[in-house]
Parts: sequence; structure tokens; C-alpha cells
Amino acid sequence: MLVLAYLVATVGLVQGLKYMGDPAKAKMGNLVAAAAVLVALVALVAVTEKASTANLLLLLVMMGIGTLIGNIWSNRVAMTAMPQLVSIFNGLGGACALVLGLNQVYGQGTLVEDKLGGSVLLLTNLFGAVAFTGSMIAYWKLDGRKLPRPARTQKLIAQALLGLVVIAFGYYLLSPAEPAHFPVLLLAVSLAALLYGVYFALPVGGADMPVMISLLNALSGVATLMAGLVFHDPVMIIGGILVGATGIILTLQMCVAMNRSLTGVLAGKFSGSGAAQAVGEQELTSITAVETASLLAFSKQVAVVPGYGMAVAQAQRECFALQELLRQQGVDLHFIIHPVAGRMPGHMNVLLAEANIPYSSVKEMSEVNSTMEHYDTVLVIGANDVVNPAAENDPGSPIYGMPIIRAYKAKQVIVMKRSTAKGYSGAVNTLFDRQNCKVLFGDAKASLEEIINELKRI
Ligand code: NDP
Repeated sequence: MLVLAYLVATVGLVQGLKYMGDPAKAKMGNLVAAAAVLVALVALVAVTEKASTANLLLLLVMMGIGTLIGNIWSNRVAMTAMPQLVSIFNGLGGACALVLGLNQVYGQGTLVEDKLGGSVLLLTNLFGAVAFTGSMIAYWKLDGRKLPRPARTQKLIAQALLGLVVIAFGYYLLSPAEPAHFPVLLLAVSLAALLYGVYFALPVGGADMPVMISLLNALSGVATLMAGLVFHDPVMIIGGILVGATGIILTLQMCVAMNRSLTGVLAGKFSGSGAAQAVGEQELTSITAVETASLLAFSKQVAVVPGYGMAVAQAQRECFALQELLRQQGVDLHFIIHPVAGRMPGHMNVLLAEANIPYSSVKEMSEVNSTMEHYDTVLVIGANDVVNPAAENDPGSPIYGMPIIRAYKAKQVIVMKRSTAKGYSGAVNTLFDRQNCKVLFGDAKASLEEIINELKRI
């Protein structure tokens, strides 16, 4: 019975993950995966030797409280704060593994059977603690909170803490007998890992954040996997493997998207967010919504590059309306998505899918970068870093080396933004100085509405 329930839960988790690969089925994927975990939990409590009405009731009450808090929280959170929420969820996954590990020794008083069991427990707490505090720092960074500026001392402290953890592991593995003070060792490793998470995440620069977020995601999966090994729980092991493996694949994809090496990001080699260049105000050429509308109407090929500002303005439905309107007027419109646009992996894909924008009109940066000059007009809607040519030609820029969407190659570029503010990395955007670039100031949604009204009038 339990094996059957675990099998159902495992298939549910894999299927849920598969659905999440398609934006149109992602919601369903979430539900299927949640139902799979529910099946595993209920079966575990109902069938194992610890089965009791009290345990089942406790489980249901705790799940009820969790569901209620999660429901209220996710309904109240603004769409723009979703990346922060995802970071908190990530961190909570790590915190759960940490608490389970500590409870095993301190709460249950379980004695560690052998070196292998002890090592797995130490790793559970190590990965759980780093995922927890690292994700909390990521949350504060994404939320634009004031944090200590990236500094070399933070990297040194992080390296020292990591060194301590390695020494503790070495001591544990090499000591001849099972150390009686394993609980103290576990606590020390947990505390050092909690601090390491903070000092590992603090110096990571703005432009390298996507890599760090994906890595923390992977770490929370590995922590779950380790906890699953401690508790001999197959569903936890499989869930942990799925999250860990997909997180690692995503991390590597983000490294490719940013042209960074994982070791470079971890060592803080590319971080430059704290040192946004001080330059004089740029001379921007502005354009009105009415002028933009006529430019679009006379174009044959139009591309939209969405970025974080589109999410802030919640302008995805207006993007769809613009596409429809231009299509009726014989103008072809593509969306070009940069892998790190927005504030979480897949951010733009989710928003465009929500507005029912056909996936066939969504292009990857690599598909179109070599033919950007064919576009008559490129509308950059709330994107900044991902179209900044400084990434290609300014070695001093914090985003130098990151592949960008070459919007500057199009015949005309219109950038929609509200002010002269910089992007997330703090880099000056040299696209704005180009002859073929004009800025349409204002909230993206309001500007798009104006353009749509004007297009209807033309
Ligand atoms: P950016 O943060 O570089 O730029 C956003 C732009 O949107 C700004 O120019 C801002 O200008 C504009 N904007 C904000 N609100 C509005 C609005 N209501 N209407 C119109 N414009 C608006 O975003 P990109 O998407 O180009 O780049 C993503 C950045 O975030 C990269 O540096 C990436 O490394 C980083 N990052 C990405 C993560 C991911 O996983 N995708 C995670 C963490 C960080 P103004 O204020 O003047 O309006």
C-alpha cells in the first residue's frame, strides 16, 4: 500500500515537473506536484508503524495552517514581488531540512549509527543552512533593501567559514571512534553554514544574481535529498533529486546566459553591482506615444523586448493587444526574451503566457541576434541591462561579457521607461546614446494604451 502510494507520488512529481516546462500547463503542474506530496504524506502517516489518529490529525492541522498562510500570502503579494516570495519559499525548504536534521539529534536523541549516516546528517544541515540564509539575503537584495555593500572582507569571511566546515568534516571522518560530541559538531557546522550563507550571498553582484538564485534553489533540493536519506524517505529523496538536478541544470544555463563561470560567480570575480559607474547625466532623445504609434504603423517587422519594467507595469495584456492590432494592419511582431530578463528565471515567459501571447511569436535571443538589423522597430518595454551594449564593449561595466539582445542593431529602437534610472546592475546603458534610440518616458502600461488608441485611430 505504502509502496503504491510512493509510486503514485513519484509519478505525480515527475509529471508535475514536466507540466511546468510548458507555461500554459505550469499551473496544472503545480497542482499535480502538490497533490503528489499530499498522497505521500497521508500514506506515510496512515500506513507506517507511527500511524495514529493523533498523528494524522496533527498532519492535517499543520497542512491546513500551511495552506492557509500560503494562500493568503500568495494572494496578497504583488506580481512584482513574486521573485522575493520564491526566494523565501526556497529558503524555507532549506530551513526545514536544517530543523529536521537538528531535531533528529537534539529532539529525538537518535544516535548516529556510522560515519556514513553522520556525514549525511552533517550535509543535510550544511546545505539546508546555506540555502536558508543565502535565500534570505537574496530576498532582501531582490526587495531592494539596504544591505552592506559588497566588500572583499565578506568574501574572506565566507572562505574562512567554508574552511572551518571542511576542517570539521575532515575531523569527523578521520577521528577513529564515533565522536561522542557529534551533536556539538552538528550544531557548530549548522551555525557556520548559516553564517556562510550570509557571507556567500552578500558580495554577489546584481548582474550575477540569477546564477546565485538558481544555485540556492539547487541547494535546497540537495538538502531535501540528504534529509530524505536520513529519514529513509523515498519521496523526499526523489523530490530532492528532481529539485536539485533541475536547479543545477538551471544554474548552468544561467551561467551560459550570463557568460559567467560558476566558480567565477562563487568567488565574486565578476561582481560589480556595488560600484555603479559615476557618469554625468546622459542626453536622451525622447519620443511621444503618438509618434511611436505612427513609427509602428509604418514598420513591417517589429520586435518587443520585455524586461522587469513590463512586470512592474503589468503591461503584458497590452503587449498582446498591440500584437493583435499590428497583425491586423499587416505588421509582424515578435517578442524576444533574454534568459535573465526580469527578476526570476522564466519571469517574462510566464507573463507573456498569462496574456495568451502565442509561443510561436516568442523568440530566444540566440535565434534573432544575428538578424536584428531586419527589424524596422524594436520596442524595449521596461528592459535595460539585457539590451545594454556596454556588456559587449565596456570592460569596466558590471555586466561586461554578458550576452545581450542586440536591439541597437535594429533600424529604430524605442525604450519605454519612466525616468533616467539605471537597470538592476547599476550599469550606465550606452544604448540610450545611440542615434537610432529614442526614449518614450512614462509607465509602460499607460504608454502602450496610448499607442494602441492612436493605432486604432490611424
Ligand atoms: P532592469 O532591471 O535592467 O531594468 C528595468 C527597467 O524597467 C528600468 O530601466 C526601469 O526604468 C524600467 N521600469 C521599471 N518600472 C517601469 C514601469 N512601470 N514602466 C516602464 N518602465 C519601467 O531589467 P532587465 O529585465 O533588463 O534586466 C534584468 C536584471 O535583473 C539583470 O541585471 C539581471 O541580472 C537581474 N536579475 C535577474 C534575475 C532573473 O532570474 N531573471 C534575478 C535577479 C536579478 P525606470 O525606473 O526609469 O522606469
